[in-house]
Amino acid sequence: MKHLIKPIAILFMLSLLFSMINPALGTAYTLGWDLVDSGKHLDWGGSTKYQNDFNYSVNTWNNYKSGVIRKDSIIYLKDVTISDITLKNNDAGETDGDNKTIKFNTFNIDPMNTTRRRNVCAHELGHALGLNENPNTGNTMYYKSSDTYTLSRDDKDSYNAAVLNW
Ligand SMILES: [Zn+2]
Repeated sequence: MKHLIKPIAILFMLSLLFSMINPALGTAYTLGWDLVDSGKHLDWGGSTKYQNDFNYSVNTWNNYKSGVIRKDSIIYLKDVTISDITLKNNDAGETDGDNKTIKFNTFNIDPMNTTRRRNVCAHELGHALGLNENPNTGNTMYYKSSDTYTLSRDDKDSYNAAVLNW
């Protein structure tokens, strides 16, 4: 099996080189389910009192992959319904894959500033797109609400991985 050594060594050198060129390689976290339709769109209906923050977060994802998330219409059938609830628990938002809903918990979101609200909205949209929780801070998909509302390397890599499951 001597002949195997050379290609492995070359592969190792290549991956080493690649990691030096791309020091910010991310990790992908996907759910294995999503609310994206067969046309590869996530069309939302309903409303929330945090509509400005929600719309901002729609743009955050669409700026990375344009045109995926859309407001429902006569032509675009609704894939997910957004609404508000008030529950005295620790959840800021919940995306339900069975009921095809995103619910924003006013009990926890009302005291938040714009940054945090955008984080919650972008995070829940991420679940609807098929992204899972990220265990590390600095990511929109970090499992707790945080000040991150832009897409990190991990968020983008997770999105790219989720798209492959659509
Ligand atoms: Zn989550």
